[in-house]
Amino acid sequence: MTPSGPDAVLDAGLTRRRFMWLAGLSAAGVAAGCATNPVTGQSQFMTVSEEEEIQIDRQYSPLQFSSDFGPAQEGALNAYVDGIGRSMAARSHRPHMPFSFRVVNATYINAYAFPGGSIACTRGILLNLDNEAELAALLGHEIGHVNARHTAEQMSKGQLSSILVGGLSILAEVAAPGMGQVASALGGAGAGAFLASYSRDNERQADALGTEYMVQSGYSPAGMVGLMEMLNGLNKSRPSSIEVMFATHPMSEERYQTAVRAARTTFADSRNLPLNRERYMDTTARLRSIKGAIEEMQKGDKAMGQKNFSQAETHYQAALKQAPDDYAGLVSMTKCLLMQKNYAEGARYARRAQAVFPQEAQGYHLGGFADLNRKEFDGALQSFRTSQRLLPQNPNTSFFIGYSYEGLGRRPEAAREYQRFLQQVRQGQQAQHAARRLQEWGYAR
Ligand SMILES: [Zn+2]
Repeated sequence: MTPSGPDAVLDAGLTRRRFMWLAGLSAAGVAAGCATNPVTGQSQFMTVSEEEEIQIDRQYSPLQFSSDFGPAQEGALNAYVDGIGRSMAARSHRPHMPFSFRVVNATYINAYAFPGGSIACTRGILLNLDNEAELAALLGHEIGHVNARHTAEQMSKGQLSSILVGGLSILAEVAAPGMGQVASALGGAGAGAFLASYSRDNERQADALGTEYMVQSGYSPAGMVGLMEMLNGLNKSRPSSIEVMFATHPMSEERYQTAVRAARTTFADSRNLPLNRERYMDTTARLRSIKGAIEEMQKGDKAMGQKNFSQAETHYQAALKQAPDDYAGLVSMTKCLLMQKNYAEGARYARRAQAVFPQEAQGYHLGGFADLNRKEFDGALQSFRTSQRLLPQNPNTSFFIGYSYEGLGRRPEAAREYQRFLQQVRQGQQAQHAARRLQEWGYAR
């Protein structure tokens, strides 16, 4: 009663994520009408209510945070970023929104916002900022996207589904060519898979709002100039590390020039406000002490994207030598080993990842994946159950639990999970497998 050919059905295609987004969007696109834009005060065609923005946020932001290896475990660093973000949001156009801010463990350079106000920046981007005012500019920009309701606006125009669906496959490729495939082969999502892509107009407005919010909060507008300078510089020197950010937040020389002009004109009186460089450097000291490890992980990710797994392994190994308990490093190493079908070693690294961050789902998901491929279905079942408890938003987990039950010969339980999975996902190889089994077993016509 052992399922055959696990590799064939264990790969999650883009179609599934595509479907998830569409399912989320069609559920959300119910109430049509006009709404007053909280930023401009003008009437705006809007089919998405504020409650729906919050609901979409709750459904998708946990998936993105997990894909980015969860929140950084350094409590002081998260509290610092959250404190700065919240105090800015409280003085902004939608202070009642459930804003929250965190650093995520990912090492690529990015920051993003979900429509309810869940905002994150990566460890990679923090390493490239020079002071607190630049961080405030970054968070202010993301608050601007939330407050101007850019995601909701795109959904209302009917653009988001196409932007996001188109964006998903493109992004997965852009994130690092091939990384989308690596992630999907392991039943996960590629970097940036759940992020909205903004237009250039959206970017202009978010920059303007961000500058306004940071100055209101007592920071020099030079922070926005510094941020733009840094992003423009990376665009030229290390484009691969920042592709996801630029795919979602279009960068341009114009954005930099606008920031320079605003600092000289509109906000000239605030130019002498502080940058708080010392406090930024103090709070990020521990993060900066493992800069070498983070750069090795970035190189490893690049090699993974090129499917150069042995080179990636060397980089992740070097990263873990410098930072042995780094969750992102351990999870990336696990992925790299699993892609090379080294399931025994992969399982070992997955357990280490679980041990250093027991509240995060990916370590368990990959551990379960390694066990499935070693036909250790009991262990797989345990791991996927834990993964599901930690990240119930991921419908893929139901498939893997069902698959583990199938391996154990427990058909009724397997059928129940496959049915649950098919309620959310109807396309792709896993859905086909689940539907076929239900048919064979007499649970479906
Ligand atoms: Zn943006």
